[in-house]
Amino acid sequence: ATPTALMVGTGRGAHLGLLIRGPEVLESTRRVDTIVLDKTGTVTEGRMRLLEVITDEGTDREEALQLAGAIEHASEHPIARAIAETLSDPRPVSDFHNHAGRGVSGVVDGNEVFAGRATWLATLGLAIPDALVSAQRNAEAAGHTVVLAAWSGQARAALVVADALRPTSAGAVVDLKRLGLTPILLTGDNEAAAQHIAAQVDIAHVIAEVHPEDKVDVIKKLQADGKVVAMVGDGVNDAAALAQADLGLAMGTGTDAAIAAADLTLVKGDLRGAVDAIRLARKTLGTIK
Ligand code: ADP
Ligand code: MG
Repeated sequence: ATPTALMVGTGRGAHLGLLIRGPEVLESTRRVDTIVLDKTGTVTEGRMRLLEVITDEGTDREEALQLAGAIEHASEHPIARAIAETLSDPRPVSDFHNHAGRGVSGVVDGNEVFAGRATWLATLGLAIPDALVSAQRNAEAAGHTVVLAAWSGQARAALVVADALRPTSAGAVVDLKRLGLTPILLTGDNEAAAQHIAAQVDIAHVIAEVHPEDKVDVIKKLQADGKVVAMVGDGVNDAAALAQADLGLAMGTGTDAAIAAADLTLVKGDLRGAVDAIRLARKTLGTIK
């Protein structure tokens, strides 16, 4: 394609709500055969709600919510916001730490409190009572995400959060497949929740429980297998993978880090923008091989 055709293409993109970093981006867009979709905030709204708090015997529900909410108040994660927003007056926290893709910790009222995924708490040597293990299993089977809150040596509450599918995600996946792309769902969340979302949007390939620092390796591995990979994401966690992908697409509703790392921004935060981008690239470059 001539430089002029490419400029016209990027201009059309702007009308479609596609912010394209440079005309050359359309070339990689055209060649993509695999599209990796982040789950939370990309396929789903990324606005979690707290559904339920299940406590271990002898633990007060309100106390669990106060302690977990206090430390989550200091985190930006969608899970954290769902929990923290239920408190009007969070208690002060010291020694706050964010453990990316795992959870958060801090000291509240002299207690060291942890809130995060079960596997992380286990590696810290914190016990998880059977009642909470089975509560977690049930919630995850329903497609929800569970945060365990632990203090004084063990997990004491399971906080169940849920996210909603973006209404346009399923239709966008249908169109991406029609364009010949293979969609893959990639997430740090648990396998059951990931499968639940994948089934709703009809994605057969799921890669779950991937730590933030390992998302980029998933992209590299696909590229080593000869795939030309697009990645769509919204989070700080997704930035390295977006930069590694042959085509990085950021949700316009996402973080600045994701947008800065991407080649193309879907301004409306709608996955259908990825479909528009590929159609536009093929149309613009259709004249050349
Ligand atoms: P995703 O890839 O879906 O955006 P992340 O990599 O951010 O997910 O997080 C993966 C998992 O780590 C979450 O599902 C959750 O179990 C745990 N986690 C991350 N941050 C927090 C937090 N602030 N509080 C509790 N759990 C967290
Ligand atoms: Mg995300």
